[in-house]
Amino acid sequence: MDFDDIVVGSGLAALGAVKGLMSSKPGRRVGVLCGPSRNEFFYYNAGRTVPCAFLGEGGLGSHWHGVIPTGGRHNFGGADDASFSALFAQFYPQAAAQLKLGEPGFFVPWRAIRPAAELQKLANLHTDGRLGVRLTLIREAALDLSFDERGASVSSSSGAHRASRVWVAAGALHTPALLAKSLAPRAPRTLVSDHAFCYIGQVDGQAAPRIVRTGDGLLYPARYDAANVALYTLRPAAFAFRRLDHGIEQRAVFGLPTGNAVAKITRRMSPGLLVEAFYNRFGFFGGTRTHSVYAQTPAIDAYELGSGDQLLRPVAGRIRSATDAARAAQPFANLRMSQRPELAIPGIHLHHTLDLKALAEAGINTPDSPVQVIDASVLTDIGPDHHSFKMMLSAHARAASSHHASH
Ligand SMILES: Cc1cc2nc3c(=O)[nH]c(=O)nc-3n(C[C@H](O)[C@H](O)[C@H](O)COP(=O)(O)OP(=O)(O)OC[C@H]3O[C@@H](n4cnc5c(N)ncnc54)[C@H](O)[C@@H]3O)c2cc1C
Repeated sequence: MDFDDIVVGSGLAALGAVKGLMSSKPGRRVGVLCGPSRNEFFYYNAGRTVPCAFLGEGGLGSHWHGVIPTGGRHNFGGADDASFSALFAQFYPQAAAQLKLGEPGFFVPWRAIRPAAELQKLANLHTDGRLGVRLTLIREAALDLSFDERGASVSSSSGAHRASRVWVAAGALHTPALLAKSLAPRAPRTLVSDHAFCYIGQVDGQAAPRIVRTGDGLLYPARYDAANVALYTLRPAAFAFRRLDHGIEQRAVFGLPTGNAVAKITRRMSPGLLVEAFYNRFGFFGGTRTHSVYAQTPAIDAYELGSGDQLLRPVAGRIRSATDAARAAQPFANLRMSQRPELAIPGIHLHHTLDLKALAEAGINTPDSPVQVIDASVLTDIGPDHHSFKMMLSAHARAASSHHASH
């Protein structure tokens, strides 16, 4: 089938591209190859406690917590505050009214953006004739990609699809495999970067963090250090979590990403962790005398790519250097420093899995190339902020501005 644009993937990056195309290219035919119909998780570890990729509609976007940073730093592809606010307001109009971009912190929504449902909504609008573009969702995986000066071709189980431009958003771990097959065999890297999440220690006597409640979710404050090494958050330390390091020991055992922890923790009846989880999700219990300080910091080349159950092999020294740097830079006075600096939790913010130079040599991602890679596989530096919304914003901006190149 022929399209003007094909988007490969149905996660947050894909959704950003589709919305960008909608805003700039009325009447154009957009096909989305949503991915394999099977739903399959991939994990960081053989114990399968922390997911790192998901093959299925919506990708990891079907499972993410939806946290969006508000510090206004490190937008990718030069996206400005105005475009950040405009995209944010499409999903969270009530929170947008209270958002002060540039104030360090993050937004925790009541309902995370779910790309599979959003794409379906857009496809339904198209059926009703109310959408700018003609959108077709194809629930198949891209098997192969090729391109020439006239455009690109993608094959799937139902045949070959041609388009002027293909937007590749198969995720940080699966985009490289797709490109290596046919287009850019030398582009995949053997290393992957991520965030590391670690415990810095405890502070007493801090004022309760000032949380802004909106109809769409909560705006939490956070802090950067002077050199922008990490993003630091305060959480209430209650019950057993008042003991230094108890919290991170628990988290390391559970391997839990914060937030969706509530159900599992309730079963395990750990009141300290329950208090933290309720704070993270609903903003309750912020006024404890003691607070735990956590940090999120980039861990460059933190994993080697393997295969099978050992898809990601941690490079312990690099993760430790990253968390040590966050500890050294932490901005709190009178902090009792953690005695378990070896403990860290994967950020699930995998990025930089493609070699940008090899990609450009293969003729991909150059401004006029028919093949554009828009997911985190091409992000080399995400800073300390949660990156996913900003990645989506960058995909949106690139698709929206591609209008001129392809006409
Ligand atoms: C529990 C959890 C919580 C998280 N919370 C946050 C958070 O609060 N804030 C934040 O910023 N980030 C968070 N993240 C990270 C975030 O989920 C990811 O960064 C983001 O979803 C990645 O989006 P993506 O579109 O790049 O890739 P993916 O979500 O990996 O999507 C890739 C898509 O491509 C499809 N695909 C793969 N191969 C093919 C193929 N050959 N053909 C066609 N399609 C294909 C897949 O099926 C999928 O639909 C969290 C992650 C997890 C697991």
